[in-house]
Amino acid sequence: MSGILVIAEQRRGELRPVSLELLAAAQGLRRAGDEVAVAILAESPDIFVGSLRLAGADEIVTIKTGAREFDPDTFESAIGALIAQRSPDVVLVAHSVDSFGYAAALAARHGWGFATDVFIAQRIDGELVATRGGYGQKVSVEVDFPGRSTVVLAIRGNVFKPPEQPAEPRITVFDAPAVQSRAVGRNFIELSAGDDVDMTAAEFILTIGRGIGEEAKVPQFRELADAVGATLGCSRPIADAGWLPKSRQVGQSGKTASACKLYVAMGVSGAIQHLAGMKHVSTIVAVNTDAEASIFSVAKYGIVGDIFEIAEELRRLF
Ligand SMILES: Cc1cc2nc3c(=O)[nH]c(=O)nc-3n(C[C@H](O)[C@H](O)[C@H](O)COP(=O)(O)OP(=O)(O)OC[C@H]3O[C@@H](n4cnc5c(N)ncnc54)[C@H](O)[C@@H]3O)c2cc1C
Repeated sequence: MSGILVIAEQRRGELRPVSLELLAAAQGLRRAGDEVAVAILAESPDIFVGSLRLAGADEIVTIKTGAREFDPDTFESAIGALIAQRSPDVVLVAHSVDSFGYAAALAARHGWGFATDVFIAQRIDGELVATRGGYGQKVSVEVDFPGRSTVVLAIRGNVFKPPEQPAEPRITVFDAPAVQSRAVGRNFIELSAGDDVDMTAAEFILTIGRGIGEEAKVPQFRELADAVGATLGCSRPIADAGWLPKSRQVGQSGKTASACKLYVAMGVSGAIQHLAGMKHVSTIVAVNTDAEASIFSVAKYGIVGDIFEIAEELRRLF
């Protein structure tokens, strides 16, 4: 038993971005000789093949389903049959509302290893180890799977950087067994995202940390962010205190600044859990009174100084 099977996701005719992130996660687990197959299930799976022709995929498996959209019975049956045929040692699915509908059920029925909300997947001394949050993301939990022939990992979105290089994987058709689904799709309801922002899409982020000292200082940094055209983000203590919504928290238990090109960190120490959400950004500017702060180890430009003085100077310019 070997190889990695990635289950891509589509919704309403569009490939979900997490599908490509799963391909990136697969690369970190690949051993010599392992093949990575990516399966796409849809009423017309061929329309997604072009978007999946990326580095890291050796094979694209198309599975034609009778269902127009995700359907737990259809997907559970088809994916179960594919796994039974291929016997991969790792199956990567998105940690999403779709996989909630089939992945745990499959793993439980077959006695496979299973972990959800995984943000690090690696092999340590040859053994698969998945890291996920625990106790409301207050601790990181490492999970291993001794004796499991197949392990299903539900991977958190916006953590892995999707591959960009095109490739020419072979295309295979898998005929899934017919199944009488118990689910009936009615319609889609768009949920309003409220007035908050999508940190994962922001290209310029100005983040405030505990260095701001008190909640009363938040508005002045909100104004600064607006003036310079940045999205205001924060470290976890700011969100935990309720000074900014949780949706603005960057880091391991918050959002990953996936699209960010310029990240200005003000009064942020640079704890490893914060860096997890932003260290990949190409241009990081850090302002901190402590010259030894870890944030300077990832910053391209650093100012050892007081954030309030720097904020005032910037306000004069913008
Ligand atoms: C499982 C787990 C998950 C976590 N997830 C996240 C996460 O997603 N995101 C996250 O951010 N944290 C996360 N944390 C918390 C993380 O460990 C740190 O506690 C947190 O990032 C620290 O936030 P901070 O940098 O704002 O505060 P601090 O570490 O207190 O740093 C404040 C900084 O401000 C500087 N400063 C103070 N006054 C000024 C001033 N006037 N001018 C300039 N600089 C000043 C100080 O020198 C200091 O470096 C997580 C922790 C755990 C255990």
